[in-house]
Amino acid sequence: MDLVLLGPPGGGKGTQAKRLMDKFGLVQLSTGDMLRAAVASGSEIGKRAKAVMDAGQLVSDDIVIGIIDERLDAPDTKGGVIFDGFPRTVAQAEALDAMLARKGRRLGHAIEIRVPDQLLIDRITGRFTCAKCGAGYHDQFQKPKAAGVCDKCGGTEFVRRADDNAETVTKRLGAYHAQTAPLLPYYEGKGVLSVVDGTQDIAEVTRALEAILDGAKVG
Ligand code: ADP
Ligand code: ADP
Ligand code: ZN
Repeated sequence: MDLVLLGPPGGGKGTQAKRLMDKFGLVQLSTGDMLRAAVASGSEIGKRAKAVMDAGQLVSDDIVIGIIDERLDAPDTKGGVIFDGFPRTVAQAEALDAMLARKGRRLGHAIEIRVPDQLLIDRITGRFTCAKCGAGYHDQFQKPKAAGVCDKCGGTEFVRRADDNAETVTKRLGAYHAQTAPLLPYYEGKGVLSVVDGTQDIAEVTRALEAILDGAKVG
């Protein structure tokens, strides 16, 4: 079973995807992470994506659809994936449906992690990750247990994203409302949409997501 996590930038998609992976045997596919890796490697796709990402706009549908199409052919995705940050436009959602059908896969759930805009600026400007293992942290909301040391791997180097600044966030929120929010009625129409309250603390959001994936009643 495959799963789409929907929600605004900073809403907690990546945080939750990582927490769900082990329990449900799913692999996180973050188009943002894949695009940042392409930028870092200096590939042709990376060169085309960099300026668009820095401006807080969406990379072209063709590029991200191509990346996902290829990634889904890798054997580690066979047990199911969590799409994190994909799809982000109706065109991407339609392409995903066609792709999954072609590959004999099934989208079990699309879950919106709902967080109002005014909370997202703080979430995003306080975000940082371990340079070694990619574990996610926050200056206020999710500090490492020992300051300056990654809980997961003991690494002591951390990175912040170039686009995680207040000015770009406003543009990314604009893109979310204009281009990605139409996916909510799209998935509702297909009968796979659920919503969780993303303003709760991290563990509570995980419990709400697990309840949906376990097929239990949320509440
Ligand atoms: P997204 O992948 O949707 O952009 P992230 O998972 O990276 O969002 O979360 C953005 C930031 O907010 C991170 O620094 C993360 O530690 C923090 N965060 C995630 N979920 C919560 C939550 N429920 N409450 C408070 N902070 C959160
Ligand atoms: P966040 O969840 O915090 O917005 P992501 O890591 O998902 O961050 O995305 C970072 C940037 O990468 C986006 O602002 C956009 O430029 C680009 N991007 C990621 N996923 C997609 C996608 N599915 N379609 C188009 N652009 C994307
Ligand atoms: Zn680490």
